[in-house]
Amino acid sequence: MGAAARLKVIAPLADAFARRVSYLRVSITDRCNYRCTYCMPEEGVALVPRPEVLTLEEVARIVGLLARVGVRRVRLTGGEPTVRHGLIDLIERLHALDLDDLALSTNGHTLAEIAPLLRRAGLTRLNVSVDSLDPEKFKQITRRGDFARVQAGVEAARDAGFRATKINAVALAGWNDDELPAIAAWAWERDAIPRFIEWMPMGGGSLFAPGGFLPAAQIRARLAAVFGPLLPDDGAGLPGVGPARYLRLASDETRRVGVISAVTEPFCDTCNRVRLSSTGQLHTCLARDETIDLRAPLRGGLSDEEILACVREGVAGKAEGHAFQPTGCGGPKKHMVSIGG
Ligand code: SAM
Ligand code: SF4
Repeated sequence: MGAAARLKVIAPLADAFARRVSYLRVSITDRCNYRCTYCMPEEGVALVPRPEVLTLEEVARIVGLLARVGVRRVRLTGGEPTVRHGLIDLIERLHALDLDDLALSTNGHTLAEIAPLLRRAGLTRLNVSVDSLDPEKFKQITRRGDFARVQAGVEAARDAGFRATKINAVALAGWNDDELPAIAAWAWERDAIPRFIEWMPMGGGSLFAPGGFLPAAQIRARLAAVFGPLLPDDGAGLPGVGPARYLRLASDETRRVGVISAVTEPFCDTCNRVRLSSTGQLHTCLARDETIDLRAPLRGGLSDEEILACVREGVAGKAEGHAFQPTGCGGPKKHMVSIGG
């Protein structure tokens, strides 16, 4: 009997607004080898003591439980997930769940070396962050990144068989807003899909500079100024379509681009996601600090059904929407590096 048949969905997870939960993002570490300016402070964040971090067996158990209640897509994130030992083993275990999509978000720093391993382990898709094509600027934004390595990583991923890799760029006025069309073209040349993300005021807005915020409307205008009119696209055929709204060039309909506009054009009414932090906290909304602790139930010997009951109770309390503001207010106290995006 195949894994899919064994994982018969029992009473799918849904919140009080009838939104079904089908997508889980799992942060497997709060550690990172970069220090992106919009994501974490230069000095880093207080690292979680190792015993508080879920073991990969614990992570696999929770993912397996959520798969039983309707989660069909999983994305591993961090911090930087590739710095966690055992990542390949975890992917192999999750691959056995026969999910619709098993993806990884990475800064791409080690992708040139590990892309074939990720592919062989059963990963279906990659998201790679690329905020600038200028090596100097790339280093400034990431504080220690190496653009040449990331470019080689994106190309190695394509050579290893990954298709439709998403290239994520946070749009930052005064930093990379003049580069958005070039980043899109760079991604298309590598058979990847560019996605531009509005800067979210995480960390209580402490890293956020309102002057650097670029609303989705301006992101689209910067692209249209170079490529001509953009048409709405339903993302059909794109694997793992998430919160991005897609557009395609009127001049070349094969060229698609996503815009993630959490702040100015929220998509909360269709939110199908929950997030698991590296310490086993279930976040039902990225923009809020409230969580449901799953680590204590896991380590306290609770049964699968009892743990699922905790999950259901938490999801039932999922907020209707968030309050991100382009002024820098409305976000959670946590930095993005601690939740994973
Ligand atoms: N380290 C991996 C990476 O960089 O892709 C995965 C974790 S990172 C937190 C996930 C995504 O969140 C990245 O695409 C990153 O650019 C984005 N991100 C981080 N901080 C952000 C913020 N304040 N607003 C919007 N996106 C942010
Ligand atoms: Fe690290 Fe990713 Fe945050 Fe950059 S965006 S600091 S690579 S977790």
